[in-house]
Amino acid sequence: MAQSSKRPRFESWGRYPILQADLKLLNWTGDFPLPNPPATRLLPVGAGRSYGDVCLLEDGMLLQTLGMDRLLAFDPATGVLRCEAGVTLAEILDFAVPRGFFLPVTPGTKYVTVGGAIANDIHGKNHHVAGTFGHHLLRFELVRSDGTHLLCSPIENQQWFSATIGGMGLTGLITWAEVRLRPIVSRSIDYQGDKFVGIDEFLALSQSAKAEYTVAWIDCISTGRNFARGIFMQGEHAKEPGKLKKSGQPWLTFPFDLPAVALNRFTMSAFNMAYYHKQIPKQKTAKVDYEPFFYPLDSVLHWNRMYGKNGLLQFQNVLPHEGGREGMVEILKAITRSGLASFLAVIKFFGDVPSVGMMSFPKPGIMLALDFPIRPEVSFDLLDRLAQITLECGGRMYSAKDARMTAEQYQTFYPQWREFERYIDPSFDSAFWQRVTGRRPLDE
Ligand SMILES: Cc1cc2nc3c(=O)[nH]c(=O)nc-3n(C[C@H](O)[C@H](O)[C@H](O)COP(=O)(O)OP(=O)(O)OC[C@H]3O[C@@H](n4cnc5c(N)ncnc54)[C@H](O)[C@@H]3O)c2cc1C
Repeated sequence: MAQSSKRPRFESWGRYPILQADLKLLNWTGDFPLPNPPATRLLPVGAGRSYGDVCLLEDGMLLQTLGMDRLLAFDPATGVLRCEAGVTLAEILDFAVPRGFFLPVTPGTKYVTVGGAIANDIHGKNHHVAGTFGHHLLRFELVRSDGTHLLCSPIENQQWFSATIGGMGLTGLITWAEVRLRPIVSRSIDYQGDKFVGIDEFLALSQSAKAEYTVAWIDCISTGRNFARGIFMQGEHAKEPGKLKKSGQPWLTFPFDLPAVALNRFTMSAFNMAYYHKQIPKQKTAKVDYEPFFYPLDSVLHWNRMYGKNGLLQFQNVLPHEGGREGMVEILKAITRSGLASFLAVIKFFGDVPSVGMMSFPKPGIMLALDFPIRPEVSFDLLDRLAQITLECGGRMYSAKDARMTAEQYQTFYPQWREFERYIDPSFDSAFWQRVTGRRPLDE
């Protein structure tokens, strides 16, 4: 186990807020000692791909797990993989795809760790059929600061299993996990893209879609007859055998922070126009590789630098089907009125598979995710307005993407937070948890 002498900065993907904590780099030893009695507050972190402060802590110690990166066992008959919690989904794909297996659920980036995927109970384009990452977990080990090692599964320590899935790193350190991969016969995805104009066309496409993976890109800048236009994307793993080699490394890195003015309404409008018209026919089908289908942004490392030093804010919510259409229209209108623009905007139907995690984000309804450059004078007001609309519509926001929710909003979105609090390790804490509950566990 090595500890850095300087205080290297650990940033979340949105690069906001900036907080300072000590960083301890972990390697799994099998007999895992956490500082006991802990002299400081602790928080495990993975690759820092959460956007806000769920992976940040002020004046404490971040336990970074990227060194816990070993694959421990794999059974090709069942697809069950056992690995340490710092293994990334990219590393799993490199191992699994050549053997004819794929992740059961994947987010829009493969550069997240298994620990992070569990702690935020991540979802993907197949949520409507596969639920969240937690559904595909067989068991994991949780190490608490009192030295306890808990083996958690749907039948052993079931409450700890449920509290830790979506538990934002607060219940203890996940050291390893077993996840069931799904078989594939090719890297290819059978893709279909349908252009739409307006929320009603999006809703109709979502209701009739049959594919395993569905998501839509939506233009949040255009107004008038182009309001809420977009491309509805569906995909299935190809059924005929094809290539199963592992992916190459991305060769593009965003080299520097763009000046804050570079991403403005004009440049984003131009991007949206080009993106919408990239597909000429109303419907297009193609065979595509899984990399651009699942991870279009991963081809450029550090793409968050494009938002400049101020960073970016994400907003992700889900609104129930009832009233969801009107709520989404109100949200899109609030964005166009604000003068702020988002070009990384996706909208999708969540399914009704109940989440295993006590604090998991997904619930049935319409999900929207947007990125905004930080311009303090407008972006904070806009985000607060979007959160308010979400509240009024009976929706919920995603903690992994958030840096703005108020305590009142969070506690309304997640009324089970008090029950969850019973499972928090007394030495563990996060900037997010302090913000949304005002609690500091070591004070109690
Ligand atoms: C481009 C992009 C696209 C994304 N798309 C999606 C998406 O489609 N769906 C989705 O659900 N999310 C998505 N995300 C968010 C991302 O999947 C989650 O934030 C994920 O949790 C990040 O994992 P990480 O390894 O970077 O963990 P971090 O961000 O470092 O930490 C996330 C949480 O996990 C906890 N944690 C990490 N390791 C451990 C451990 N070993 N034990 C206990 N707790 C731990 C941390 O305390 C923290 O609360 C996206 C993010 C990006 C940047």
